[in-house]
Amino acid sequence: MKILAATLMLALLAGCATGPTGPQYDHTYTAKGQSSRARFLVLHYTVGDKPSSLATLTQQEVSAHYLVTDDPRPVIYNLVDEKNAAWHAGNSSWKNFTQLNNSSIGIEIVNPGWKDTPNGRVYAPFPQSQIDALIPLVRDIVTRHHIAPENVLGHSDIAPQRKQDPGPMFPWRQLAAAGLVTWPDANRVVALYPIFQTQLPDVAWFQKKLHTWGYGLVESGVLDEQTRTVLSAFQMKYRPANIDGMPDVQTAALLEALTNPRGPLPPVPAAPVMTAPVLPPPAQPAPPVEPAQPTPPAQPTPLPTTPPDSPTVIPATPPVPVQQ
Ligand SMILES: [Zn+2]
Repeated sequence: MKILAATLMLALLAGCATGPTGPQYDHTYTAKGQSSRARFLVLHYTVGDKPSSLATLTQQEVSAHYLVTDDPRPVIYNLVDEKNAAWHAGNSSWKNFTQLNNSSIGIEIVNPGWKDTPNGRVYAPFPQSQIDALIPLVRDIVTRHHIAPENVLGHSDIAPQRKQDPGPMFPWRQLAAAGLVTWPDANRVVALYPIFQTQLPDVAWFQKKLHTWGYGLVESGVLDEQTRTVLSAFQMKYRPANIDGMPDVQTAALLEALTNPRGPLPPVPAAPVMTAPVLPPPAQPAPPVEPAQPTPPAQPTPLPTTPPDSPTVIPATPPVPVQQ
């Protein structure tokens, strides 16, 4: 005891040379007004196997808070502290937020992604054991950070022009069934079908709905490439059987049910979407030199699937992604 007291006395005499040298913090009080920096949860696939995914996410600049492996009993690696930003989102936006690394938690899921085959692009499935491991992780994160279901997103939602992950094989529906993702009500979708079958909304309607829901796109009023890519991203999540990026009845019904879940059903749009262009009146024809041949009746023209002024054909498959 005497030795201890002597040691303490020596320390005091030495001006606390052995004590902390930085600022001293008093944690007596905690502010009521604070919130998590994380407003979004973003899901990815890694485009690689477990070793390559681990190497990339720990040794390179790209990172994520969590990595869920594809082992028979999947491992959940916590690679970045949730208090810090991981570098997973890149150039991204959702609603009024941009550069979502700063406001999100990122989960990478080991999955090889897609490959092009003679029969088209084939995406790799996610083992059910992996999804069974993922769902409690998502639930834990959204609960602790109070992340709303509409803010549980794919990389393809927040960077649709660059990214396709987690792709159309990712079972968003299972996350929705677990209450973790906002999902269009099936009965409402059915009720909307006849309305949109009578008249498909125009491209501007699709763009406004997608933009309001959160997707970054320019409301150009035409079915341009960026719009088809965003439509494809939406379809990958809510209608993965067909991700061709075309506006159609089912996509319209899903989008309306998602963005207007409880209000009155919309009226049938007054004007057709895919109308023929309004042409100026023809110039006064010159008087015929010879008796005019009777004009054959015009063939009924099928409604074009794209507006006449839309840009050139876009491949049915989304553009090639940049590797993770
Ligand atoms: Zn990604």
